[in-house]
Amino acid sequence: MLKLKSLGAAGTVTGAKHLLEFDSHRILIDCGLFQGLKNLREQNWEPLPVPPRDIDAVILTHAHLDHSGYLPRLVRDGFRGKIYATEATRDVAELILKDSAFLQEKDADFLNQHHLSKHQPALPLYGIRDAQRALEHFTTVDFNEVIELRNGVSLQFRHAGHILGAANAEIQWGGTRMMFSGDIGRYGDPLFPDPVSGGNVDYIMVESTYGNRVHSDEDPAEALATVAERTIKRGGTLIIPAFAVGRAQELLYHFWKLKSAGRLGSVPIFLDSPMAIDATELMSRHSQHHRLDHETCRKAFGIARYTDDVEASKAITANPFPKIVISASGMATGGRVLHHLKTFGPDPKNTILLSGFQAMGTRGHALQQGAKELKIHGMWVPINAEVAQIGMLSAHADSNELMRWLSGFNEPKRVFIVHGEPDASEALRVRIKRELGWSSVVPRQDQEFQL
Ligand SMILES: [Zn+2]
Repeated sequence: MLKLKSLGAAGTVTGAKHLLEFDSHRILIDCGLFQGLKNLREQNWEPLPVPPRDIDAVILTHAHLDHSGYLPRLVRDGFRGKIYATEATRDVAELILKDSAFLQEKDADFLNQHHLSKHQPALPLYGIRDAQRALEHFTTVDFNEVIELRNGVSLQFRHAGHILGAANAEIQWGGTRMMFSGDIGRYGDPLFPDPVSGGNVDYIMVESTYGNRVHSDEDPAEALATVAERTIKRGGTLIIPAFAVGRAQELLYHFWKLKSAGRLGSVPIFLDSPMAIDATELMSRHSQHHRLDHETCRKAFGIARYTDDVEASKAITANPFPKIVISASGMATGGRVLHHLKTFGPDPKNTILLSGFQAMGTRGHALQQGAKELKIHGMWVPINAEVAQIGMLSAHADSNELMRWLSGFNEPKRVFIVHGEPDASEALRVRIKRELGWSSVVPRQDQEFQL
């Protein structure tokens, strides 16, 4: 009997971990960190309901932290199997996991230095050594190739769009076919291929980040230009917290288009995130998995000045002239963008432009809700800058696109709706029932289903 249980991303958007069990063999689809609200983040510290050593393999749909960020802990706690991913996902995961480990270690050091933790000493969830060990467990699988795992599972990755290397995973085990969507990208995205769907499967697990939203069809470059031009006219600086992988490159592409069309004058653009710089380099290296050719990559990604070291980043902070700064992290939970928010947030001539999904409990979400001050590095910083949002840049399919992806399949026995806030998942469930007539369910965390 095949059993399915979601250990995360059930009723919430982070912590994706879906456990399949058959004849006392187990595989985990994705192995993400919980992010955002404290009660979610605390779950990263709780032991999994199944000991990591009892999991045979992990199948990783893509490298985003909320899908991959628990891997170092899984390995540290005894996982000995292989982690299957596309080659591009492995490369992106290397950036993301090392960065995550670095931040975990830095946070623990900060708490210890300032005696801010009730734990003595405060320990990181994992360190850089754990991230390196996790990377040694990776084995890469080509898109569209069907492989057999030792425990009788067959696996095929297909393009999901979304970010570099992202795949949906079709898994066949014990005569049952399942489709795990991972995160689904947008159709007609300028950078990434359209998500692929189709065929006969018994069960589908689908994400629902935007299950209750339809993205604006406004041209993203035009929307960016409007916000940038208004800010420049005020003599201000445009700060864009951006996910280092995917979003930062997409922004560069749109700014390159604008500059090529003679827009935005001579205002400089800075890419101030070492990880985004590395991710940009990976885009150039894996050009077969996105839509930009070498020449376009070279030109578009060459539009910005890259600030690799801290001194160059500090020079941006000190620079009073109009400029555009793209910096991570995308939800302002950490990284260099915090320094920019501290410097540029209090002045109304500047703009903070939110460019992606903002999970509850993050500074980005607070800004989205109109917060007038933010706590950064232990200090309250007043926010008088304009806060703008650009929804159409999302890396996630909207409700219509999720329906388009789903309707490519023949009717399955059941759809499992995960990776969404409860309202979003429920809205998608209602649409699936109404428009396709299919049976679907929004699983609770740790709820077990027999397939
Ligand atoms: Zn993702």
